[in-house]
Amino acid sequence: MALQTHAEEDRMVNQFMERLQGKYPHQKEFLQAVHEVARYVLPYEMFVPEYRDGQVLWRLTEPDRAIMFRVVWYDDKGQVQVNRGFRVQWTNALGPYKGGLRFHPSVNVGIIKFLAFEQTFKNSLTGLPLGAAKGGSDFNPQGRSEDEIRRFCQAFMLELHKHIGEGFDVPAGDIGVGSREIGFMYGTLVKLRGYEPGAFTGKTLELGGSHLRPEATGYGLIYFAQEMLRHNLNEDLSGKTALISGSGNVAQFAAEKLIELGVKVLTLSDSTGFVHIPDGLTMEQLEFVKKLKMRRGASLREFAEKFRLTFYEGKKPWSVPADLAFPCATQNEITEDDAKELVKNGCRLVAEGANMPSTPGAISIFLSNNVLFGPGKAANAGGVAVSGLEMAQNAQRMQWSREEVDRKLQEIMKNIHAQAVQFGEEKNSVNYIKGANIAGYDRVARALVNLGVI
Ligand code: NDP
Repeated sequence: MALQTHAEEDRMVNQFMERLQGKYPHQKEFLQAVHEVARYVLPYEMFVPEYRDGQVLWRLTEPDRAIMFRVVWYDDKGQVQVNRGFRVQWTNALGPYKGGLRFHPSVNVGIIKFLAFEQTFKNSLTGLPLGAAKGGSDFNPQGRSEDEIRRFCQAFMLELHKHIGEGFDVPAGDIGVGSREIGFMYGTLVKLRGYEPGAFTGKTLELGGSHLRPEATGYGLIYFAQEMLRHNLNEDLSGKTALISGSGNVAQFAAEKLIELGVKVLTLSDSTGFVHIPDGLTMEQLEFVKKLKMRRGASLREFAEKFRLTFYEGKKPWSVPADLAFPCATQNEITEDDAKELVKNGCRLVAEGANMPSTPGAISIFLSNNVLFGPGKAANAGGVAVSGLEMAQNAQRMQWSREEVDRKLQEIMKNIHAQAVQFGEEKNSVNYIKGANIAGYDRVARALVNLGVI
Protein backbone atom coordinates (compact mmCIF):
# COMPACT_ATOMS: atom_id res chain seq x y z
CA MET A 1 0.00 0.00 0.00
CA ALA A 2 2.80 2.43 -0.86
CA LEU A 3 0.71 5.37 -2.07
CA GLN A 4 3.44 7.73 -0.95
CA THR A 5 6.87 7.94 -2.55
CA HIS A 6 9.87 6.59 -0.68
CA ALA A 7 11.19 10.16 -0.37
CA GLU A 8 7.94 11.29 1.32
CA GLU A 9 8.05 8.32 3.66
CA ASP A 10 11.69 9.00 4.55
CA ARG A 11 10.90 12.65 5.25
CA MET A 12 8.02 11.71 7.53
CA VAL A 13 10.14 9.17 9.44
CA ASN A 14 13.05 11.62 9.76
CA GLN A 15 10.77 14.33 11.17
CA PHE A 16 9.32 11.88 13.65
CA MET A 17 12.78 10.78 14.76
CA GLU A 18 14.12 14.34 15.01
CA ARG A 19 11.25 15.18 17.33
CA LEU A 20 12.05 12.19 19.54
CA GLN A 21 15.79 12.81 19.39
CA GLY A 22 15.17 16.34 20.64
CA LYS A 23 13.63 14.84 23.77
CA TYR A 24 16.07 11.99 24.35
CA PRO A 25 19.33 12.83 22.57
CA HIS A 26 21.43 10.45 24.69
CA GLN A 27 19.24 7.34 24.61
CA LYS A 28 20.78 5.86 21.48
CA GLU A 29 19.53 2.27 21.81
CA PHE A 30 16.02 3.57 22.45
CA LEU A 31 16.18 5.84 19.39
CA GLN A 32 17.50 2.92 17.31
CA ALA A 33 14.65 0.66 18.42
CA VAL A 34 12.01 3.31 17.68
CA HIS A 35 13.53 4.10 14.29
CA GLU A 36 13.38 0.45 13.25
CA VAL A 37 9.66 0.39 14.06
CA ALA A 38 8.82 3.86 12.73
CA ARG A 39 10.27 3.30 9.26
CA TYR A 40 7.75 0.52 8.64
CA VAL A 41 4.87 1.52 10.88
CA LEU A 42 4.53 5.25 10.12
CA PRO A 43 3.78 4.74 6.39
CA TYR A 44 1.21 2.10 7.43
CA GLU A 45 -0.30 4.32 10.15
CA MET A 46 -0.95 7.07 7.59
CA PHE A 47 -3.56 4.88 5.90
CA VAL A 48 -5.59 4.03 8.99
CA PRO A 49 -7.44 7.22 10.02
CA GLU A 50 -8.04 6.16 13.66
CA TYR A 51 -4.36 5.36 14.12
CA ARG A 52 -3.12 8.44 12.28
CA ASP A 53 -5.48 10.89 13.97
CA GLY A 54 -4.90 9.27 17.34
CA GLN A 55 -1.11 9.61 16.85
CA VAL A 56 -0.78 6.07 18.08
CA LEU A 57 2.91 5.52 17.33
CA TRP A 58 3.86 8.86 18.82
CA ARG A 59 1.91 7.97 21.96
CA LEU A 60 3.76 4.67 22.07
CA THR A 61 7.13 6.41 22.28
CA GLU A 62 6.37 7.32 25.90
CA PRO A 63 5.98 4.68 28.63
CA ASP A 64 3.03 4.72 31.02
CA ARG A 65 5.68 5.32 33.70
CA ALA A 66 9.37 4.83 34.44
CA ILE A 67 10.42 4.01 37.98
CA MET A 68 14.02 4.48 39.16
CA PHE A 69 15.27 3.58 42.56
CA ARG A 70 18.32 3.07 44.78
CA VAL A 71 19.39 -0.46 45.77
CA VAL A 72 21.68 -0.65 48.80
CA TRP A 73 23.22 -3.90 50.01
CA TYR A 74 26.26 -5.35 51.81
CA ASP A 75 28.93 -7.28 49.86
CA ASP A 76 30.89 -10.20 51.35
CA LYS A 77 33.49 -7.84 52.77
CA GLY A 78 30.82 -6.03 54.76
CA GLN A 79 31.04 -2.97 52.53
CA VAL A 80 27.96 -1.04 51.44
CA GLN A 81 27.23 -1.21 47.70
CA VAL A 82 24.83 1.09 45.87
CA ASN A 83 23.16 0.22 42.55
CA ARG A 84 20.43 1.72 40.41
CA GLY A 85 17.15 -0.14 39.88
CA PHE A 86 14.63 0.41 37.06
CA ARG A 87 11.16 -0.68 36.05
CA VAL A 88 9.68 0.89 32.92
CA GLN A 89 6.00 0.04 32.44
CA TRP A 90 5.32 0.75 28.78
CA THR A 91 1.68 -0.09 28.16
CA ASN A 92 -1.03 -2.27 29.68
CA ALA A 93 -3.44 -1.89 26.78
CA LEU A 94 -3.32 -5.62 25.98
CA GLY A 95 -2.80 -7.03 29.46
CA PRO A 96 -0.70 -6.70 32.61
CA TYR A 97 2.75 -5.14 32.18
CA LYS A 98 5.10 -7.96 31.28
CA GLY A 99 8.82 -8.20 30.59
CA GLY A 100 12.08 -9.37 32.09
CA LEU A 101 14.65 -7.95 34.49
CA ARG A 102 18.26 -7.49 33.33
CA PHE A 103 21.25 -7.36 35.69
CA HIS A 104 24.24 -6.06 33.76
CA PRO A 105 26.66 -3.15 34.30
CA SER A 106 25.58 -1.57 30.99
CA VAL A 107 21.97 -1.13 32.19
CA ASN A 108 20.69 2.45 32.14
CA VAL A 109 17.33 4.08 31.49
CA GLY A 110 17.88 4.18 27.70
CA ILE A 111 18.62 0.44 27.52
CA ILE A 112 15.57 -0.43 29.63
CA LYS A 113 13.41 1.88 27.50
CA PHE A 114 14.58 0.23 24.27
CA LEU A 115 13.83 -3.20 25.72
CA ALA A 116 10.38 -2.20 27.03
CA PHE A 117 9.47 -0.55 23.72
CA GLU A 118 10.51 -3.71 21.79
CA GLN A 119 8.57 -5.81 24.28
CA THR A 120 5.38 -3.94 23.38
CA PHE A 121 5.39 -5.27 19.81
CA LYS A 122 6.73 -8.69 20.73
CA ASN A 123 4.07 -9.31 23.37
CA SER A 124 1.41 -8.14 20.97
CA LEU A 125 2.62 -10.64 18.35
CA THR A 126 2.13 -13.57 20.75
CA GLY A 127 -1.64 -12.99 20.58
CA LEU A 128 -1.79 -13.39 24.39
CA PRO A 129 -3.18 -10.81 26.85
CA LEU A 130 0.20 -9.28 27.67
CA GLY A 131 1.14 -5.64 28.17
CA ALA A 132 4.79 -4.62 28.13
CA ALA A 133 7.50 -3.58 30.59
CA LYS A 134 11.17 -4.14 31.30
CA GLY A 135 13.43 -3.53 34.26
CA GLY A 136 16.71 -4.34 35.90
CA SER A 137 19.80 -2.92 37.45
CA ASP A 138 23.39 -1.97 36.71
CA PHE A 139 24.40 -4.65 39.25
CA ASN A 140 27.08 -6.93 37.78
CA PRO A 141 26.56 -10.54 38.91
CA GLN A 142 29.87 -11.64 37.37
CA GLY A 143 32.26 -12.80 40.04
CA ARG A 144 29.71 -12.27 42.83
CA SER A 145 29.11 -15.05 45.37
CA GLU A 146 25.69 -16.67 45.70
CA ASP A 147 25.26 -14.87 49.05
CA GLU A 148 25.93 -11.52 47.41
CA ILE A 149 23.50 -12.26 44.58
CA ARG A 150 20.81 -13.24 47.11
CA ARG A 151 21.37 -10.12 49.20
CA PHE A 152 21.25 -7.94 46.10
CA CYS A 153 18.02 -9.58 44.88
CA GLN A 154 16.40 -9.08 48.28
CA ALA A 155 17.43 -5.41 48.41
CA PHE A 156 16.18 -4.89 44.84
CA MET A 157 12.80 -6.39 45.72
CA LEU A 158 12.35 -4.22 48.81
CA GLU A 159 11.51 -1.44 46.37
CA LEU A 160 10.32 -3.29 43.26
CA HIS A 161 7.60 -5.21 45.13
CA LYS A 162 5.65 -1.94 45.51
CA HIS A 163 5.25 -1.69 41.75
CA ILE A 164 4.46 -5.25 40.63
CA GLY A 165 1.82 -7.88 41.25
CA GLU A 166 -0.39 -10.56 39.71
CA GLY A 167 -2.63 -8.99 37.08
CA PHE A 168 -0.69 -5.71 37.24
CA ASP A 169 3.00 -6.14 36.38
CA VAL A 170 4.70 -9.51 36.10
CA PRO A 171 8.52 -9.56 35.70
CA ALA A 172 10.68 -12.47 34.49
CA GLY A 173 14.38 -13.03 33.65
CA ASP A 174 16.76 -11.59 31.08
CA ILE A 175 20.55 -11.20 30.94
CA GLY A 176 22.00 -12.01 34.36
CA VAL A 177 18.64 -13.15 35.75
CA GLY A 178 17.73 -16.85 35.69
CA SER A 179 15.51 -19.07 37.80
CA ARG A 180 17.87 -18.79 40.81
CA GLU A 181 17.62 -14.98 40.91
CA ILE A 182 13.87 -15.15 40.28
CA GLY A 183 13.61 -17.54 43.26
CA PHE A 184 15.41 -15.03 45.49
CA MET A 185 13.24 -12.13 44.30
CA TYR A 186 9.99 -14.07 44.46
CA GLY A 187 11.04 -15.32 47.92
CA THR A 188 11.31 -11.73 49.12
CA LEU A 189 7.90 -10.91 47.67
CA VAL A 190 6.34 -13.95 49.40
CA LYS A 191 7.90 -12.86 52.70
CA LEU A 192 6.55 -9.32 52.30
CA ARG A 193 3.14 -10.06 50.83
CA GLY A 194 2.39 -13.78 50.97
CA TYR A 195 1.88 -16.44 48.30
CA GLU A 196 1.42 -14.83 44.89
CA PRO A 197 2.85 -17.04 42.11
CA GLY A 198 1.20 -14.88 39.46
CA ALA A 199 3.55 -11.99 40.33
CA PHE A 200 6.60 -13.54 38.59
CA THR A 201 7.27 -15.88 35.70
CA GLY A 202 10.35 -17.98 35.08
CA LYS A 203 9.94 -19.58 38.51
CA THR A 204 11.14 -23.13 39.15
CA LEU A 205 8.50 -25.87 38.84
CA GLU A 206 8.24 -26.19 42.64
CA LEU A 207 7.40 -22.50 42.96
CA GLY A 208 4.64 -22.72 40.33
CA GLY A 209 6.74 -22.28 37.20
CA SER A 210 5.85 -23.69 33.81
CA HIS A 211 7.43 -26.66 32.13
CA LEU A 212 9.62 -25.50 29.25
CA ARG A 213 9.96 -21.87 30.39
CA PRO A 214 13.79 -22.08 30.54
CA GLU A 215 13.84 -23.66 27.06
CA ALA A 216 11.14 -21.47 25.53
CA THR A 217 13.10 -18.59 24.00
CA GLY A 218 15.77 -20.85 22.45
CA TYR A 219 13.32 -23.53 21.27
CA GLY A 220 10.89 -20.90 19.97
CA LEU A 221 13.70 -19.25 18.01
CA ILE A 222 14.47 -22.50 16.23
CA TYR A 223 10.77 -23.21 15.56
CA PHE A 224 10.56 -19.76 13.99
CA ALA A 225 13.69 -20.36 11.85
CA GLN A 226 12.21 -23.66 10.75
CA GLU A 227 9.07 -21.90 9.56
CA MET A 228 11.16 -19.32 7.68
CA LEU A 229 13.14 -22.01 5.86
CA ARG A 230 10.05 -24.03 4.97
CA HIS A 231 8.03 -21.06 3.81
CA ASN A 232 10.71 -19.44 1.66
CA LEU A 233 12.98 -22.25 0.50
CA ASN A 234 10.94 -25.37 1.12
CA GLU A 235 13.86 -26.72 3.13
CA ASP A 236 14.36 -28.20 6.60
CA LEU A 237 17.02 -27.46 9.18
CA SER A 238 18.52 -30.94 9.17
CA GLY A 239 22.05 -31.18 7.72
CA LYS A 240 22.78 -27.45 7.99
CA THR A 241 25.53 -25.68 9.92
CA ALA A 242 24.90 -22.86 12.42
CA LEU A 243 26.70 -20.16 14.37
CA ILE A 244 25.41 -19.23 17.80
CA SER A 245 26.65 -16.30 19.87
CA GLY A 246 26.17 -16.24 23.62
CA SER A 247 26.19 -19.26 25.92
CA GLY A 248 23.50 -18.26 28.39
CA ASN A 249 19.86 -19.25 28.62
CA VAL A 250 18.78 -18.45 25.05
CA ALA A 251 21.96 -19.75 23.39
CA GLN A 252 21.96 -23.03 25.33
CA PHE A 253 18.44 -24.03 24.42
CA ALA A 254 18.72 -22.83 20.82
CA ALA A 255 21.78 -25.10 20.57
CA GLU A 256 19.91 -27.99 22.20
CA LYS A 257 17.02 -27.78 19.72
CA LEU A 258 19.37 -27.40 16.75
CA ILE A 259 21.36 -30.49 17.75
CA GLU A 260 18.09 -32.41 18.21
CA LEU A 261 17.04 -31.40 14.68
CA GLY A 262 20.32 -32.52 13.08
CA VAL A 263 22.07 -29.15 12.76
CA LYS A 264 25.82 -28.83 13.35
CA VAL A 265 26.40 -26.00 15.87
CA LEU A 266 29.85 -24.60 15.11
CA THR A 267 30.25 -21.83 17.71
CA LEU A 268 29.25 -20.48 21.11
CA SER A 269 30.49 -17.25 22.66
CA ASP A 270 30.47 -15.10 25.78
CA SER A 271 31.79 -11.74 26.87
CA THR A 272 35.37 -13.09 26.79
CA GLY A 273 35.41 -14.52 23.24
CA PHE A 274 34.13 -17.41 21.12
CA VAL A 275 34.86 -21.09 20.79
CA HIS A 276 34.99 -22.88 17.42
CA ILE A 277 33.65 -26.44 17.38
CA PRO A 278 34.47 -27.72 13.83
CA ASP A 279 32.77 -31.11 14.33
CA GLY A 280 29.62 -29.61 15.83
CA LEU A 281 28.61 -29.23 19.48
CA THR A 282 27.57 -32.50 21.15
CA MET A 283 24.92 -32.89 23.86
CA GLU A 284 27.67 -33.90 26.29
CA GLN A 285 29.58 -30.69 25.56
CA LEU A 286 26.39 -28.66 25.90
CA GLU A 287 25.72 -30.17 29.34
CA PHE A 288 29.23 -29.06 30.35
CA VAL A 289 28.51 -25.50 29.14
CA LYS A 290 25.19 -25.41 31.04
CA LYS A 291 26.96 -26.38 34.29
CA LEU A 292 29.87 -24.01 33.63
CA LYS A 293 27.57 -21.05 33.04
CA MET A 294 25.70 -21.58 36.29
CA ARG A 295 28.84 -20.01 37.76
CA ARG A 296 28.37 -16.36 36.82
CA GLY A 297 31.60 -15.04 35.36
CA ALA A 298 32.97 -18.42 34.20
CA SER A 299 34.61 -18.09 30.75
CA LEU A 300 34.07 -20.41 27.78
CA ARG A 301 37.86 -20.71 27.73
CA GLU A 302 37.40 -23.47 30.34
CA PHE A 303 35.09 -25.32 27.95
CA ALA A 304 37.56 -24.94 25.08
CA GLU A 305 40.42 -26.24 27.22
CA LYS A 306 38.42 -29.22 28.48
CA PHE A 307 37.46 -30.36 24.96
CA ARG A 308 40.65 -29.20 23.17
CA LEU A 309 38.88 -26.64 21.03
CA THR A 310 40.19 -23.30 19.82
CA PHE A 311 39.13 -20.27 21.84
CA TYR A 312 39.28 -16.86 20.16
CA GLU A 313 39.82 -14.31 22.92
CA GLY A 314 37.77 -11.11 22.59
CA LYS A 315 36.37 -12.14 19.17
CA LYS A 316 32.87 -12.73 17.83
CA PRO A 317 31.92 -15.84 15.83
CA TRP A 318 30.63 -14.18 12.65
CA SER A 319 33.65 -14.96 10.44
CA VAL A 320 33.15 -18.73 10.63
CA PRO A 321 31.41 -20.02 7.44
CA ALA A 322 27.94 -21.47 8.14
CA ASP A 323 24.41 -21.70 6.64
CA LEU A 324 22.60 -20.12 9.58
CA ALA A 325 23.37 -17.54 12.29
CA PHE A 326 21.63 -17.11 15.66
CA PRO A 327 22.84 -14.09 17.65
CA CYS A 328 21.82 -14.89 21.25
CA ALA A 329 24.02 -12.62 23.40
CA THR A 330 23.27 -8.90 23.39
CA GLN A 331 22.30 -5.75 21.45
CA ASN A 332 24.33 -4.54 18.45
CA GLU A 333 26.60 -7.59 18.39
CA ILE A 334 26.38 -7.95 14.57
CA THR A 335 27.84 -4.88 12.87
CA GLU A 336 27.66 -4.04 9.19
CA ASP A 337 31.13 -5.57 8.68
CA ASP A 338 30.09 -8.75 10.49
CA ALA A 339 27.02 -8.94 8.25
CA LYS A 340 29.17 -8.60 5.13
CA GLU A 341 31.38 -11.41 6.39
CA LEU A 342 28.34 -13.63 7.01
CA VAL A 343 26.99 -12.93 3.51
CA LYS A 344 30.38 -13.52 1.90
CA ASN A 345 30.58 -16.91 3.62
CA GLY A 346 27.19 -18.01 2.31
CA CYS A 347 24.95 -17.48 5.36
CA ARG A 348 21.30 -17.75 4.26
CA LEU A 349 19.32 -17.14 7.40
CA VAL A 350 19.78 -14.96 10.47
CA ALA A 351 17.27 -15.26 13.31
CA GLU A 352 17.68 -13.08 16.39
CA GLY A 353 17.56 -14.79 19.80
CA ALA A 354 18.84 -11.64 21.50
CA ASN A 355 17.03 -8.29 21.48
CA MET A 356 18.27 -5.97 18.69
CA PRO A 357 21.57 -7.82 18.14
CA SER A 358 21.92 -6.54 14.55
CA THR A 359 22.82 -2.90 13.90
CA PRO A 360 20.75 -1.02 11.28
CA GLY A 361 23.71 -1.32 8.87
CA ALA A 362 23.81 -5.10 9.35
CA ILE A 363 20.06 -5.40 8.71
CA SER A 364 20.40 -3.46 5.43
CA ILE A 365 23.15 -5.86 4.31
CA PHE A 366 20.97 -8.88 5.08
CA LEU A 367 17.92 -7.47 3.31
CA SER A 368 19.82 -6.36 0.21
CA ASN A 369 21.50 -9.78 -0.09
CA ASN A 370 18.31 -11.81 0.29
CA VAL A 371 19.38 -13.33 3.58
CA LEU A 372 16.25 -14.48 5.42
CA PHE A 373 16.17 -12.19 8.44
CA GLY A 374 14.01 -12.96 11.51
CA PRO A 375 13.94 -9.95 13.88
CA GLY A 376 14.06 -10.58 17.62
CA LYS A 377 10.61 -9.24 18.38
CA ALA A 378 9.19 -12.14 16.37
CA ALA A 379 11.90 -14.79 16.55
CA ASN A 380 12.57 -14.65 20.30
CA ALA A 381 8.96 -14.18 21.42
CA GLY A 382 8.75 -17.82 22.59
CA GLY A 383 10.06 -16.88 26.04
CA VAL A 384 7.42 -14.33 26.83
CA ALA A 385 4.79 -16.55 25.21
CA VAL A 386 5.51 -19.36 27.67
CA SER A 387 5.60 -16.74 30.44
CA GLY A 388 2.05 -15.91 29.32
CA LEU A 389 1.22 -19.62 29.57
CA GLU A 390 2.79 -19.71 33.05
CA MET A 391 0.47 -16.87 34.09
CA ALA A 392 -2.53 -18.80 32.75
CA GLN A 393 -1.46 -21.93 34.68
CA ASN A 394 -0.95 -19.90 37.89
CA ALA A 395 -4.40 -18.34 37.53
CA GLN A 396 -5.93 -21.82 37.19
CA ARG A 397 -3.69 -23.31 39.95
CA MET A 398 -2.63 -25.91 37.34
CA GLN A 399 0.58 -27.15 35.79
CA TRP A 400 0.40 -28.38 32.21
CA SER A 401 2.69 -31.13 30.91
CA ARG A 402 5.88 -30.40 29.03
CA GLU A 403 4.33 -31.82 25.85
CA GLU A 404 1.29 -29.60 26.14
CA VAL A 405 3.38 -26.44 26.66
CA ASP A 406 5.65 -27.42 23.75
CA ARG A 407 2.65 -27.92 21.48
CA LYS A 408 1.27 -24.51 22.43
CA LEU A 409 4.69 -22.88 21.95
CA GLN A 410 4.99 -24.35 18.46
CA GLU A 411 1.50 -23.13 17.60
CA ILE A 412 2.30 -19.61 18.84
CA MET A 413 5.58 -19.43 16.88
CA LYS A 414 3.78 -20.61 13.72
CA ASN A 415 1.14 -17.98 14.26
CA ILE A 416 3.74 -15.22 14.76
CA HIS A 417 5.42 -16.36 11.55
CA ALA A 418 2.10 -16.27 9.68
CA GLN A 419 1.40 -12.71 10.91
CA ALA A 420 4.87 -11.54 9.85
CA VAL A 421 4.30 -13.09 6.41
CA GLN A 422 0.85 -11.50 6.11
CA PHE A 423 2.16 -7.98 6.71
CA GLY A 424 5.65 -8.48 5.26
CA GLU A 425 5.06 -10.25 1.95
CA GLU A 426 6.81 -8.42 -0.90
CA LYS A 427 7.22 -9.24 -4.59
CA ASN A 428 9.50 -12.27 -4.34
CA SER A 429 10.27 -12.43 -0.67
CA VAL A 430 9.07 -11.82 2.85
CA ASN A 431 10.37 -8.78 4.72
CA TYR A 432 10.00 -10.20 8.24
CA ILE A 433 11.12 -7.02 9.96
CA LYS A 434 8.40 -5.02 8.25
CA GLY A 435 5.83 -7.77 8.82
CA ALA A 436 6.64 -8.23 12.52
CA ASN A 437 6.63 -4.50 13.22
CA ILE A 438 3.32 -3.83 11.50
CA ALA A 439 1.56 -6.92 12.83
CA GLY A 440 2.77 -6.22 16.40
CA TYR A 441 1.78 -2.57 16.09
CA ASP A 442 -1.65 -3.26 14.61
CA ARG A 443 -2.96 -5.27 17.56
CA VAL A 444 -1.74 -2.88 20.22
CA ALA A 445 -2.90 0.13 18.16
CA ARG A 446 -6.43 -1.29 17.91
CA ALA A 447 -6.49 -1.79 21.67
CA LEU A 448 -5.28 1.76 22.30
CA VAL A 449 -7.88 3.22 19.96
CA ASN A 450 -10.62 1.21 21.69
CA LEU A 451 -9.49 2.52 25.07
CA GLY A 452 -9.87 6.12 23.94
CA VAL A 453 -7.27 8.85 24.28
CA ILE A 454 -5.81 8.02 27.72
P1 NDP B 1 22.09 -14.83 29.90
O1 NDP B 1 22.57 -13.92 30.97
O2 NDP B 1 21.62 -16.18 30.28
O3 NDP B 1 23.23 -14.99 28.79
C1 NDP B 1 23.78 -13.91 28.12
C2 NDP B 1 24.92 -14.38 27.24
O4 NDP B 1 25.35 -13.29 26.43
C3 NDP B 1 26.13 -14.84 28.05
O5 NDP B 1 26.80 -15.83 27.33
C4 NDP B 1 26.95 -13.55 28.14
O6 NDP B 1 28.33 -13.78 28.35
C5 NDP B 1 26.71 -12.99 26.76
N1 NDP B 1 26.86 -11.52 26.77
C6 NDP B 1 26.17 -10.62 27.52
N2 NDP B 1 26.61 -9.38 27.26
C7 NDP B 1 27.58 -9.51 26.33
C8 NDP B 1 28.39 -8.59 25.64
N3 NDP B 1 28.31 -7.27 25.88
N4 NDP B 1 29.29 -9.08 24.73
C9 NDP B 1 29.37 -10.41 24.50
N5 NDP B 1 28.60 -11.33 25.11
C10 NDP B 1 27.73 -10.89 26.01
O7 NDP B 1 20.95 -14.02 29.10
P2 NDP B 1 19.83 -14.59 28.12
O8 NDP B 1 20.33 -15.77 27.39
O9 NDP B 1 18.57 -14.70 28.90
O10 NDP B 1 19.64 -13.35 27.14
C11 NDP B 1 20.39 -13.22 25.93
C12 NDP B 1 19.67 -12.27 25.00
O11 NDP B 1 18.37 -12.79 24.69
C13 NDP B 1 19.43 -10.85 25.54
O12 NDP B 1 19.47 -9.93 24.48
C14 NDP B 1 18.00 -10.93 26.06
O13 NDP B 1 17.39 -9.66 26.13
C15 NDP B 1 17.37 -11.81 24.99
N6 NDP B 1 16.14 -12.48 25.36
C16 NDP B 1 16.10 -13.30 26.46
C17 NDP B 1 14.92 -13.93 26.78
C18 NDP B 1 14.83 -14.92 27.90
O14 NDP B 1 13.79 -15.58 28.02
N7 NDP B 1 15.86 -15.11 28.71
C19 NDP B 1 13.68 -13.68 26.02
C20 NDP B 1 13.87 -12.89 24.83
C21 NDP B 1 15.06 -12.29 24.56
P3 NDP B 1 28.91 -14.03 29.85
O15 NDP B 1 28.52 -15.43 30.20
O16 NDP B 1 30.39 -13.84 29.70
O17 NDP B 1 28.26 -13.01 30.72
